[in-house]
Amino acid sequence: MVAALPTAGNVGPIATGGQRCLSLTVLGCDGSWTGPGGAGSGYLVTAGDTCLVVDTGPGTFANLQRHIDPASIDAVIITHHHPDHWTDLYAIDTHARFALHGRSMPLFAPVGLGGRAQLDRTPTFDLQAVTDGDTVRIGDLACRFCRTDHSFETLAVRIDGAGRTLGYSADSGPGWSLSRLGTGLDLVLCEATYTSEHEGTAGHMSGRQAGEQARGAGARRLAITHRWPTIDAVAVASEAEAAFGGPVEQASIGKEFVL
Ligand SMILES: [Zn+2]
Repeated sequence: MVAALPTAGNVGPIATGGQRCLSLTVLGCDGSWTGPGGAGSGYLVTAGDTCLVVDTGPGTFANLQRHIDPASIDAVIITHHHPDHWTDLYAIDTHARFALHGRSMPLFAPVGLGGRAQLDRTPTFDLQAVTDGDTVRIGDLACRFCRTDHSFETLAVRIDGAGRTLGYSADSGPGWSLSRLGTGLDLVLCEATYTSEHEGTAGHMSGRQAGEQARGAGARRLAITHRWPTIDAVAVASEAEAAFGGPVEQASIGKEFVL
C-alpha cells in the first residue's frame, strides 16, 4: 500500500511488467571511507523513464555523469546521515543551481539529515522526512522504508518497478532482518563491510552475516557492498557465498545489475 506522502512531481502509476527493466548501477560502494579511486555509497536505480539516486556518498556525483545527465534525476533517497552516504548532495546542489538554473527535486531522508547537512540553505531539494514503514512513489518506482540496526535512524529500502524488486540494506548490524523487506526480492544489495572475525566490532555485517540474511529473506540474487577498503574482497565474497548457498556478486563502480 502506497502511503499518501507528499511528493513533488514525477508521481504516476507503477509500471508492472513493462518493456523497460529495473536497473541498478553502482556509483560508489566503499564502506565508511573511500579507498584509492573509490567512492562512497551511491546507486542509480532506473525503471521506465524514472531515474532515482539512492545515497550520494563522496565521489558518486562524478560517476553518475558517466551514465545520465543529472537533469534526469527525478528524486534522491538518503538512507541515513553518516557522511559516506550523502556528502555529494553538495555537488548535486551546486550543479543544479549553476548548470540547471535552480531546478528542484524531491529528497527523501530520515529526520535529522536536513540539520546535519544544513539543507535548509538551498532550494534545490524538496526535503521530505520518511521513516520506518513509509512508502513513497517516484515515477515508475515504489519505495518502502524499513529501519535497520545502525546508529542514527537508518532506512533500508525495498524498490519495486517494472515488475521486479530490489532490496537495499543500507547500513546495518546483524540485529535486523532483511526479510523485513518482504518477499519476492529479485536482487538484494546488502552491506558486507568486513569478514567474520570483525563481527561485533562495529554496527555492520560481515560477508557471512550478509549471506545468511539474504538466504533467510529468500533473495534470488545477492550483491554485496560497503566493504571497508582495507578488507580483502575475495575473503568477504567467499564467506558470503558459503552462507548464501550460491553465487554472490560484488558491487563495483560502474557495474549494472539488470533485473
Ligand atoms: Zn556507511
